[in-house]
Amino acid sequence: MSINKLIRGYEVVIGLETHAQLSTQSKIFSGSPTAFGAEPNTQASPVDLALPGTLPVMNRGAVERAIRFGLAVDAKVANHSIFARKNYFYPDLPKGYQISQYETPVVQGGKIEFFVATGSGQSESRKVNLTRAHLEEDAGKSLHEDYAGLTGIDLNRAGTPLLEIVSEPDMRSSAEAVEYAKTLHELVKWIEICDGNMQEGSFRCDANVSVRKPGAPYGTRREIKNLNSFKFLQQAIDYEIQWQIDLIEDGGKVEQATVLFNPDTGETRAMRLKEDAQDYRYFPDPDLPPLVIAQSWIDEVRAKMPELPRVMAARFQKDYGLPEYDASMMTQSKAFGDFFEAVAKACGQPKLAANWLMGEVSRRLNAEGRELDASPVSAATLATLISRIADSTISNNGAKQVLDALWTCEGQDVDAVIEAKGLKQMSDTGELERILDEVLAANAKSVEEFRAGKEKAFNSLVGQAMKATKGKANPAQVNDLLKKKLG
Ligand code: ADP
Ligand code: MG
Repeated sequence: MSINKLIRGYEVVIGLETHAQLSTQSKIFSGSPTAFGAEPNTQASPVDLALPGTLPVMNRGAVERAIRFGLAVDAKVANHSIFARKNYFYPDLPKGYQISQYETPVVQGGKIEFFVATGSGQSESRKVNLTRAHLEEDAGKSLHEDYAGLTGIDLNRAGTPLLEIVSEPDMRSSAEAVEYAKTLHELVKWIEICDGNMQEGSFRCDANVSVRKPGAPYGTRREIKNLNSFKFLQQAIDYEIQWQIDLIEDGGKVEQATVLFNPDTGETRAMRLKEDAQDYRYFPDPDLPPLVIAQSWIDEVRAKMPELPRVMAARFQKDYGLPEYDASMMTQSKAFGDFFEAVAKACGQPKLAANWLMGEVSRRLNAEGRELDASPVSAATLATLISRIADSTISNNGAKQVLDALWTCEGQDVDAVIEAKGLKQMSDTGELERILDEVLAANAKSVEEFRAGKEKAFNSLVGQAMKATKGKANPAQVNDLLKKKLG
């Protein structure tokens, strides 16, 4: 994976706008429920539709979640912000405007930090600045059902609280954009402001993409709407980059546009030429007073914040001596952080615990598309397994076999599996010495070669010894003893 490399001589510039649905029980300006999957049009109230005679009332829970986000990304939480009407006509917005925040958003500035893999096991740290995050309401949804060629409108989503998180155009590759989005996704779940369910549309990204020759001013961007999976985000950006470069190389000019990604073809297609802010005729919503957030409320919310990922990562470096990268991997989600800490505490081998979680455990989880909370192996069990490696009861390879067995059949005892599989390493040095003497006697030629300076001959002797012990010897111990015996 290449990051920040030029593509066909062009530098890529990406900024993301992310909509996180806030996990309140009721809508942002009304009491109607936000539960997913209800019968169409059973959860939209007159307030959500702005019928005459109704007035919106701000949902305190939505504001509190915006404050939590602002604190989590080191942003300024505005003591005073304004709701505006964004006017446009679309079938899923019959009231003709969306209530959003325009000039003064509730969250201003902030940053997201993460690592991007640069290939061959290396990674680089990145920081993406946030422009703002603002509160707004969602619109309804057009349902293109197949009866009589009709389209129906489901207004259940109307008035669902959203936090729109806008990044600066700080990303330089699709890989970086995906890592940013993943980090943000974990963060909103971590601070419990959004359930993060991407299939249900609770977290979706618009990707703004442009290309330029190095050193040139920013190129004109096209905005890919509503990407609801990390895979689509990557595919859509990669396609869009090539499309823009092709156009420019053919002598064309990129026009600012809103485009849609088609997951079936992997292509992006212009939906409409992009409107400018002025087209929306923004003005302060006369139905809503300014949103005033007292400093005392911000302080109260701060006091209730959980330990944040980067704080936990710093603590893992300090308390457990983890390298920065490992610490960041161990805090990729709250579940991961808690699991790591439980394992590290129980076995007293933090670095081994991190290695096993990043390696063998993650590999198995990824292969099955599972999260760590759904791991068939508990933290206590993994800790026991790691203890058995640390005290040389089993080898690293043996431990992998034990993990396989534990993985497929939950609730087994580590020591019972070690016993049943005969994976216990030889701890009796007397017995091992006897076997090594036999091996040396039977391989006089290799011994001679080794004494003549051939390193390879030593490896072959180790191999023979491991074979003679049926793999039960501790390789490090075999190495030591052989070296001693060969003087
Ligand atoms: P709008 O709200 O009309 O979409 P903004 O100016 O608020 O426009 O920008 C939206 C997003 O586009 C931001 O995430 C910003 O970082 C990104 N962006 C702005 N200029 C560029 C550019 N030239 N290339 C890529 N992304 C850009
Ligand atoms: Mg936009």
